[in-house]
Amino acid sequence: MEHDMVPLGERLRYMQLFRLTIAVMLLVGRLVSPEIAQAPLGTVLVAVGAYTLALALAEALWRFGERRNLPLFGVMLLVDGVFLAYMGHATGGTLSPVRYLILVHLIVVTLLASYRTGLKMALWHSVLLFVVFHAQEAEFLEPVDRAYRNLPGTDYQRLSTYVGAFWLVALCTAGFSSINERELRRRRVDLEALSQIANSLEKVHKPHAVAGVLADGLADTFGFERLVVLGEPKGEPTLLGHRGAESDVTVEPGIDQLVRAVWERRETLLLKRIDEDANPRLAKWLPNAKNLIVTPLLAEDRPIGVVVAEHSMRQGSRVEQRVVAMVSQFSAHAALALDNAWLLERVQEMAETDGLTGVANRRTFEVTLELEVTRAFRNGDRLSLVMGDIDHFKKLNDNHGHQTGDDVLRTVASALRSVSRDFDTVARYGGEEFAVILPNCSEEEALAAAERLRVSVASAATVVPVTISIGVATYPVHASGGTGLVEAADEALYESKRAGRNRVTQSVRTLSDPFESSVSGAGVKSA
Ligand code: GH3
Ligand code: MG
Ligand code: MG
Repeated sequence: MEHDMVPLGERLRYMQLFRLTIAVMLLVGRLVSPEIAQAPLGTVLVAVGAYTLALALAEALWRFGERRNLPLFGVMLLVDGVFLAYMGHATGGTLSPVRYLILVHLIVVTLLASYRTGLKMALWHSVLLFVVFHAQEAEFLEPVDRAYRNLPGTDYQRLSTYVGAFWLVALCTAGFSSINERELRRRRVDLEALSQIANSLEKVHKPHAVAGVLADGLADTFGFERLVVLGEPKGEPTLLGHRGAESDVTVEPGIDQLVRAVWERRETLLLKRIDEDANPRLAKWLPNAKNLIVTPLLAEDRPIGVVVAEHSMRQGSRVEQRVVAMVSQFSAHAALALDNAWLLERVQEMAETDGLTGVANRRTFEVTLELEVTRAFRNGDRLSLVMGDIDHFKKLNDNHGHQTGDDVLRTVASALRSVSRDFDTVARYGGEEFAVILPNCSEEEALAAAERLRVSVASAATVVPVTISIGVATYPVHASGGTGLVEAADEALYESKRAGRNRVTQSVRTLSDPFESSVSGAGVKSA
């Protein structure tokens, strides 16, 4: 009972129905053709009655007992054997038509239970056949009609021939049914793996995580020792996930021929080895790879990536069709998840950045500032804020047009970014105002950084030369929180404007002042 493609209860019901049919057939057979079935009617009635009673008892136990299914199933099979053997004896011994019922019983058990149970049943039937035969010979059991003895061959020869044929049927049925069972089991394992990967994919939202889930799922399910998952929403695919590949190598940008080929065909390719000249990137990630399965990742028929897996020889020299089909199915699931992950990434990026300049937008600025203030408070660090406003920008717009104004804004943004550290946040605060958050940065360092920013803008290759006025404030020197920091930097910025523009001013606020926000004095520190 290893395979449960059909639920156990249902198979038990079929088995019971089959048993009832046997009992009825034997009874009817005896009534309709008494010449063939030699047994006295009384004997048949008693045997069939006892068997039916056993069936009813088993049925009752199955219905009302709990979890005794398997042992009872075994006991019932033993009962079947005894009943059929006895009926065989009672209806003509080695020539009884019941022999065919025994064969059918064997086939039914093999198909409904398992090939193993079928073989055990064959053994049980054989043992019973010989026991009954010898019991007849020894006259423990009433001997059968001797008229049969006139047929060619001895009873023993006939019995042996029958048992031989009987085992042939048993072995064939068991053999072929074991093939089916194995296939069914594999299917089930595959389906489970597929649903597992679908589950895992639901839990990840980043492209690399999706590729990781796919790589692990494929490697663990099919025993691939090396595989790579490549992908890119547009353009050249990069290494997103892998198992056992050389991930640290640097590869030239570009698309390998193999990737192009599966993208064009939109189907899985199998090949013996990689052509290293045509596929320099794959050859680096999977050196000396052999027996490859190459599957495109398709999102609504649009190629967005590829899986290249090495089928190791230990799994057999030939890649099974089943594995190819499953790799495609895994990849189809992952491709959708990957496409969604990229979409999410794009949406998040759009929500966080300023559309015109590509730097952080006002909302991201505010969130980041709060986060950084909290972090600075926790670590006892200093945190500086630079606020800058482009000088005479209105005039530039008026003289050169809004389009040029926009170009200048873009160039100024990248000029600011070019002199910032990776962990600084450059943001467009509004119109032509920019802000730069400088974590872990003291007042002195902030002044120097602000000066670098100012120079960077003044020397940027803008269509029309522009300058920027800057104000700087530092937490917790000039303000005790995010809002205060913005106010202090803004105040200093205003002071830069007032003092003649294109300069950097540091806040002069002091925290001891209980009316922090009303302090208006700001001193020019550098120009
Ligand atoms: P100041 O030196 O005192 O800062 O002078 P200003 O002209 O820069 O001052 P103001 O703040 O009055 O002018 C800002 C101008 O920036 C007004 C507006 O036309 C322009 N501006 C704001 N946002 C954009 C934008 O997205 N694109 C363009 N082209 N111009 C913008
Ligand atoms: Mg301005
Ligand atoms: Mg302004």
